Amino acid sequence: MDLKYFLLSFTDLAHMSIITLQDISSPKDLEKKLKYREKQQAAVVSIGTQALCANEIDDLMQFAVDKVASTLGVEFCSVLEKIPQGEFLLRWGTGWNDWFIASAMVPDEPYAHAGYTSRKREPVIINDLLKETRFKGHSLLHAHDIISGIAMIIGNSKRVFGLLVVYSRNIRDFTEDTLFLQEITNILIETVEMHMTIGRLQLFRELINRSNDLVLIIDGLTGNIKYVNEKVVSYLGPDGYARLQEAPQLSSLIQSVCHDQILKQLHTSNFCTIEDVFISHDNVIHYLEINFTLLEDNERKYILGIARDITRKRTTEIALKNYAQKLQDSNTMKDMFTDIISHDLLNPVSNIKGFTELLLENETDKKKIRMLSCIASNNEKLINIMETTSIFSRLDSVGSLEFNDIDLLPLCRNSIEMFQHQILQKGLDVVLEIEGPCVAKAHPVIQHAFSNLISNAVKYSSNGDRIIVDIEEKKDVWKVIVTDFGEGIPDPKKPVIFDRFSRATSGNTIGKGLGLSIVKRIIELHSGNVGVSDNPLGKGSIFWFTVQKVIERPVFN
Ligand code: ADP
Repeated sequence: MDLKYFLLSFTDLAHMSIITLQDISSPKDLEKKLKYREKQQAAVVSIGTQALCANEIDDLMQFAVDKVASTLGVEFCSVLEKIPQGEFLLRWGTGWNDWFIASAMVPDEPYAHAGYTSRKREPVIINDLLKETRFKGHSLLHAHDIISGIAMIIGNSKRVFGLLVVYSRNIRDFTEDTLFLQEITNILIETVEMHMTIGRLQLFRELINRSNDLVLIIDGLTGNIKYVNEKVVSYLGPDGYARLQEAPQLSSLIQSVCHDQILKQLHTSNFCTIEDVFISHDNVIHYLEINFTLLEDNERKYILGIARDITRKRTTEIALKNYAQKLQDSNTMKDMFTDIISHDLLNPVSNIKGFTELLLENETDKKKIRMLSCIASNNEKLINIMETTSIFSRLDSVGSLEFNDIDLLPLCRNSIEMFQHQILQKGLDVVLEIEGPCVAKAHPVIQHAFSNLISNAVKYSSNGDRIIVDIEEKKDVWKVIVTDFGEGIPDPKKPVIFDRFSRATSGNTIGKGLGLSIVKRIIELHSGNVGVSDNPLGKGSIFWFTVQKVIERPVFN
């Protein structure tokens, strides 16, 4: 049944025709082969084109199996996808009954054509399934009366995606089709890889787009913005992309620093941060902190900018600044008021004191003397209140004091000296149990703490009582202790007597409940502690405070 091709030539003569037959069988074979190869090439081109424009891998695979089947003139072609369970799924195919598509499973076992091929890792051709000795073939092939076929791996060194299988119900040798099928499997695996990469890139793009930061990529050479994420566009408004296309320069987004400056900085440090103000399409001012990083890709330079909106931080800072300014203003007002008290009010009050004393000296009328004494003592109270209020107000506004090396012993002596008159009047026995020096890191205002405690001890002691003043040396601090044998302080009152205007006594003793709060504030400013406890030697109290010791050699000012 060999087919022969002849070229017939007719020559007409007068009464007859001459017919010549030329056997051209072998050149025809060649032409036929060439035509077949051409057809295959056309199929490769069309599958390749489909691979470039297919959005979905599904479309490409179905197109490929249809095209391969029609090009080779076979009944069956399919792509078996290797699934994680280890089997092959007949995912795309032509020629099979519909219900097999996307459901028929072929085991990855050596008895099946697919399993055998995946182990061999090379094209496996079946010339006649019935005479096949290497494997028996899956029931699917027998059920479809398949005789010949070929299976090829769709994969590369990194990944095996699956198999391309072609089957025929006729005896057929696929050896000469291997090259064609190899080209097809190459296209398929490359497209699968490309889709996976695109998928990953899309994931990154999605993440960047959803970022709460503004992300932009700038061409390092021209300073033109190449990419912005959706956050940037949301700041630019609905026509954001159009605006960027019209003016793609970085300077159209940020004004304070130009692209050249950024590039210069990036060349020295690879990374730089700037702050800028950006006015969005709805006229809202945004404060941005932008980090720029230099990226180099094949000799091309890109700048990645990630901007964070720090508007809330900035507005809070501005509000705080304003608040601090207001506080400072009100402190200035308070200081002014304090100055008025200490200077302007104290002057007339001092005049009253002077005139009262003068009148008292010359007065002999007992009734008038009593009234003048009453004026004098009330005036004294007034002077006292003004002085302590003025000290307290100053202390409240001083954030931190400048400390010097101060010996506490002379301060103790001064304070006792200050109240010498009252001590003598009451016949008190004041014992100073220190030899000194006791050098502390302190401010001269600490003198008030000494005088307050000693004044209280004198004030709340009965005639002839003893007062002990001591300074104990502790690890880092000096502990100043004033012990008296006076009326003492009831336990419930102890926690509150250091508060402003708090008094434990309701008796006759003159006081305003401000002295101890001043002591507490002074000691707080020295980072020390204050306290009170009962005198363990009998009645009375122990008042104490601590001041930082000077451990190194003291420097006296
Ligand atoms: P005041 O001007 O009233 O003395 P302070 O703040 O100095 O104000 O003292 C608060 C209160 O603590 C006093 O009113 C008094 O009740 C009590 N107090 C202070 N020192 C002593 C002390 N040494 N003995 C007993 N009570 C004291």
